[in-house]
Amino acid sequence: MMGKKKFIPYGRQSISEEDIQAVVDVLRSDRLTQGPVVEQFERAVAEYCGAKYAVAVSNGTAALHLAALAAGFEEGDEVITSPITFVASANCIVYSGATPVFADIDRNTYCIDPEQIKRKITSKTKGLIPVHFAGQPCDMVEISTISKRNNLIVIEDAAHAIGASYEVDGRTYKVGCCAHSDMAIFSFHPVKHLTTGEGGMITTNSPELYERLCLLRTHGIIKDPKRLGRNDGPWYYEQQELGFNYRITDIQCALGLSQLKRLDEFVGRRRQIVKKYNDAFSECDTLIVPQQRAGANSSWHLYMLGFQSFDRRVVFEALRECGLGVNVHYIPLHLQPFYADNFNLSVGDYPEANKYYSRVITLPLYPSMTDKDVQQVLNAVHEVVENN
Ligand SMILES: *Cc1c(COP(=O)(O)O)cnc(C)c1O
Repeated sequence: MMGKKKFIPYGRQSISEEDIQAVVDVLRSDRLTQGPVVEQFERAVAEYCGAKYAVAVSNGTAALHLAALAAGFEEGDEVITSPITFVASANCIVYSGATPVFADIDRNTYCIDPEQIKRKITSKTKGLIPVHFAGQPCDMVEISTISKRNNLIVIEDAAHAIGASYEVDGRTYKVGCCAHSDMAIFSFHPVKHLTTGEGGMITTNSPELYERLCLLRTHGIIKDPKRLGRNDGPWYYEQQELGFNYRITDIQCALGLSQLKRLDEFVGRRRQIVKKYNDAFSECDTLIVPQQRAGANSSWHLYMLGFQSFDRRVVFEALRECGLGVNVHYIPLHLQPFYADNFNLSVGDYPEANKYYSRVITLPLYPSMTDKDVQQVLNAVHEVVENN
């Protein structure tokens, strides 16, 4: 075993002096929330992604919740998502009253498999929530074809994938542009590509969805005189339906707006590190490096390494001993007690997700990792592979 090593977490935010100054500037201003910076951040993200509209909210889960409600998911509907994702991707379906249905992943990309989606479609299916797992865009062309044929609403869970893109017929689509979906959501939690502390965003090209998302974000309250049922006077507003307080603050959006300037740099560094990992690990035939679909350009939120014919617990603990904050993303949702107990799921229905879960470990990956940190990861993995 190596001696005491520096601890390298699996993910970490990068905050600059400029980011800090941007937050301080808002703190010295008149408006801490519902001020101008929220809209600036929304416009900047919409522009970055190539979408018409963006709605910033308090976190990525709130973004999913509002998107599910704006999509009109309700009791009696079925909505299909991936079993290999964070729980929030499916929880939003349950919040809306609809029933979550899981379609197995593709064995190479670990994203939801369009063929498996087709198998799970019934007369009750109302929507799809593809997850751009680890930053790799799902096959959105195929997913959009399936959705059109079956009249489904598509919400991209792009919590891992701001900055990712995919090519179709020589044209590049940024994730979040919603060219092949109705809405896309992002998370700005500190382990994600860019952070606002807590925060989220929904992008869409539909003016109707945009209006509904704004309404649901703020209690369902309308102030626009043109949309009021009656008008008691200049103070008057109306709550026309049940909404929430899912607002985000100007303080948070100032951080996000400042971080956005460095997003491409962050993603570039992630891609560099992944190349080093792939080059080093592909030589070893007991290791499975993550694969990219042709045309997909991942923004690499996570790097999952597959350990074939190893005792995963032993490998995991040995890597922790070497100072690596390794993790497992994710425990399949069909194995979570909440989903297993409340929905009619059978473990055998997800062979690829089960296989994936049995052997994968997430290695450290974040933009401020130095080459020395990367080398520490490479050494640790090689040592563990040799000794097990
Ligand atoms: C992080 C994450 C979310 C939720 O985002 P929060 O901002 O933490 O609420 C949703 N989906 C996926 C796939 C995530 O990784």
